[in-house]
Amino acid sequence: MIKVDHISKHFEHTQALSDVSLEIDKGEIVSLIGPSGSGKSTLLRCIHGLEHPESGKIYLEDEWMDPSDEEKFRAQRSKMGFVFQHFNLFPNMTVIENCTLAQINVLQRSQEESEKIAMQYLTRVGLAEKRDEYPNKLSGGQKQRVAIARALCLHPEIMLFDEPTSALDPEMIKEVLEVMTNLAEEGMTMIVVTHEMGFARKVGSRVVFLDSGKIVEDAPSDQFFEHPQSDRAKDFLSKVF
Ligand code: ADP
Ligand code: MG
Repeated sequence: MIKVDHISKHFEHTQALSDVSLEIDKGEIVSLIGPSGSGKSTLLRCIHGLEHPESGKIYLEDEWMDPSDEEKFRAQRSKMGFVFQHFNLFPNMTVIENCTLAQINVLQRSQEESEKIAMQYLTRVGLAEKRDEYPNKLSGGQKQRVAIARALCLHPEIMLFDEPTSALDPEMIKEVLEVMTNLAEEGMTMIVVTHEMGFARKVGSRVVFLDSGKIVEDAPSDQFFEHPQSDRAKDFLSKVF
């Protein structure tokens, strides 16, 4: 479904990604883990087309995501849902407006259809009754569940999560992980940058471990957690467990 082909990306003096390659099949739940600054967000943002690698290519369903082919690039990007650490809800819009905006503007759905789809997903994340609230009236966990519902409204083929629970109080982490676990069980293809090792181990099918902008390990979850191969991964795991 996704092919990352030898991408590199730097910012001023930082080599954020060096020659990273990765293929992700439909239905895989890939946990992207590694120390802070290892390039996890940059890799996810390159896949989503928020950043452009200076070399290498990203393919979605065997088609190159060429940023210069603007219309096609936009259509390709709309097949991916992105969930941010800090939710990125529009504060001046209600929950339902947050969920209908892109449906109307990007997919040209009608107001009525957009609201119907929004309510389906808000119901699924348990927040139907919050439809007319503004984000500042919601807890962090509720905001993140709205952000997930908003992404799902566009019927993405793959969901990308960048530390979706890192900004949450511990008691709210569980409700967000539950929503993500349900999605995984329904067969959604997911790439999740996370420090939740329990989630990575139980729900994830595969771990990609990054260090200093390079993929150091890429293995089935069980294998990664039980028999990490590299010293870097062993060291990382000894610190988080
Ligand atoms: P991670 O998500 O694993 O913590 P990032 O992908 O955010 O890592 O960052 C990788 C490296 O690139 C870090 O050294 C970071 O400081 C740098 N970096 C990321 N984004 C930018 C940016 N917009 N400008 C300058 N440096 C950046
Ligand atoms: Mg990051």
